[in-house]
Amino acid sequence: MIVKPFGKTGLNVSAVGFGGMRFDTKHSNAENAALVRYAVDNGINWLDTAPQYCNDRSEDIFGLAMQELGSRREDVVLCTKGQPYVYETAEKARAAVEKSLRRLKTDYIDFYYVWCVLRLDQYEQAMRPGGQYEALLRCKEEGLIRHIVVSTHLRGPEVKTLLAKNEFDGVLLGVNVLNFQYRWQGVTAAHEQGLGVVAMNPLAGGVIPQNEAALDFLAEPGETPTEAALRFCVGCPQITVALNGFSTREHIDTACRVADRAEPFTDAHIDRIRKHISTTMDDLCTGCGYCMGHCPEQIPVAGYMQYYNDKLLLKKTDAEMTEGLKNHKTFGILVGARPAAECIACGQCERACTQHLDIIRRLNAISQWEHQLAHPGLKRKASELSLKALRKIKRTCLPRH
Ligand code: SF4
Ligand code: SF4
Repeated sequence: MIVKPFGKTGLNVSAVGFGGMRFDTKHSNAENAALVRYAVDNGINWLDTAPQYCNDRSEDIFGLAMQELGSRREDVVLCTKGQPYVYETAEKARAAVEKSLRRLKTDYIDFYYVWCVLRLDQYEQAMRPGGQYEALLRCKEEGLIRHIVVSTHLRGPEVKTLLAKNEFDGVLLGVNVLNFQYRWQGVTAAHEQGLGVVAMNPLAGGVIPQNEAALDFLAEPGETPTEAALRFCVGCPQITVALNGFSTREHIDTACRVADRAEPFTDAHIDRIRKHISTTMDDLCTGCGYCMGHCPEQIPVAGYMQYYNDKLLLKKTDAEMTEGLKNHKTFGILVGARPAAECIACGQCERACTQHLDIIRRLNAISQWEHQLAHPGLKRKASELSLKALRKIKRTCLPRH
């Protein structure tokens, strides 16, 4: 396993991290804790969890693993998180840290994230007097947490703003071999500042392993697209940890095998990928974020479109999309998001979209899954549909470009 220094913290961490958001919840907590120990035995020392992951069981699973590791707890780096808009006061943020400590069965958390910053005003909310960051600083002074870090889905220039005041020891960003060209500014800004950079979703949330045939252009001879995607993040000098969600020992074995011999991508390989992404992936949202900041209804279009990728690539059923929406709205990229049904079809996001996606039609489909989530088993009434549809048709008749 490649080991890298995590920014200026003095810690050496495994280039592959264990992301605790994809445990198989059909298995018991004890079985899943054994999976964590298996990863540690294989050289993975970066362990990442959060409240709410895996039906809120993930922190308990890591807690069991910590207990079983005993004195080896010192050898691993344990990370968990809290959103600034859920724990908006110092009291609530402190209570969240204490709850995580209890569940993780440990005296300290190595890295605690100001979690899931989707907009700069959420970062400002964390930093204001009496807010989350103040509580985290106090916890750090008391030794309850060792480092304060931040996770974000902001665009590159905004990531720079987020990190400008040097308040964090590292950053977690959604970057992978499919979307890197839109996120790279954020990665380099963090790296140049001497911060550790953690890449979430190196396999694009399962999209790459489940679509290997369509994505074969990612791989060099002798490797699979999944291995190539992992190698991209692990071999990248600007990325410290590639966070993988593991469900099986085989997943861990694959990641460790790739990490043992991860060569950085050549420039020619990267150019080939760029070309393919622009010519063959036209229907996909790339996560570039150029649509953000345009919506008069404050709908996080990029988040919804990335979630909709699952429909296109994985051919998910309506029930699966409804379940996915629930997860994203609970702890994913759609936490606190205005409903897709609030779209007034003004078309501004479509005009800004680098992929020229039919965002309004997709949001309309998503609004039906939102309805399913709110009223399981109830079909939306035709009259509700036609009212919204009418409004949308009227607005989309406006000239584009
Ligand atoms: S079309 Fe809908 S989502 Fe797009 S900018 Fe207008 S209101 Fe927002
Ligand atoms: S919807 Fe379009 S502009 Fe927005 S993130 Fe996706 S590809 Fe980029």
